[in-house]
Amino acid sequence: MVSPARLTVLSGPSGVGKGTVVAEVRRLFPHVWVSVSCTTRRPRQGEADGVQYHFVSEAQFDELIATDRLLEYATFAGNRYGTPRRPVEQHLAAGRPTLLEIELQGARQVRQRMPEAQFVFLAPPSEGELRDRLTGRGTETDDMIEARLTRARDELEAHDEFDVVVINDDVERAAAEVVSLLSAAMA
Ligand code: 5GP
Repeated sequence: MVSPARLTVLSGPSGVGKGTVVAEVRRLFPHVWVSVSCTTRRPRQGEADGVQYHFVSEAQFDELIATDRLLEYATFAGNRYGTPRRPVEQHLAAGRPTLLEIELQGARQVRQRMPEAQFVFLAPPSEGELRDRLTGRGTETDDMIEARLTRARDELEAHDEFDVVVINDDVERAAAEVVSLLSAAMA
């Protein structure tokens, strides 16, 4: 009989480097299962359906909500994002430490539905650093960067809602800290 694993939710402002830290977490700890979200955003260069995201239409997203197939969902900078519920439940039941990388509104919904989950906030070393990263990414228009920065400021203020704050001053160090939290959560 496998004991269920614990869910860890990693949140933090856009541009803080969640994706990079999660990639490093996977490398250090291949046993982790990372949820693949659904989104109405168009794929970026190099993104493939079913890998970074399940890319869906607005109508498909409506249907996912209507049939209660999302654990949480939110609108972010004009696009919708949500976590498919069943795969999360299945991997937890099978004993796989499970990681969600989502924004703040979604993290709050998971807190409501699964209060036993562990909530981790990834913070930038400074707000200036965050702006540089959002600008330097080169994938967004100026308006989109402004929308993401405005949202990022709100999100930064929410760090005290989380169980643990991890500062992303160094990707490998931050990832190792997240891995230790994932492993600790298995006990
Ligand atoms: P991006 O467009 O840069 O891939 O993601 C934008 C934001 O959406 C990021 O902060 C990311 O963490 C968040 N996000 C990705 N998937 C989900 C999801 O399933 N639910 C929620 N609430 N946010 C998500």
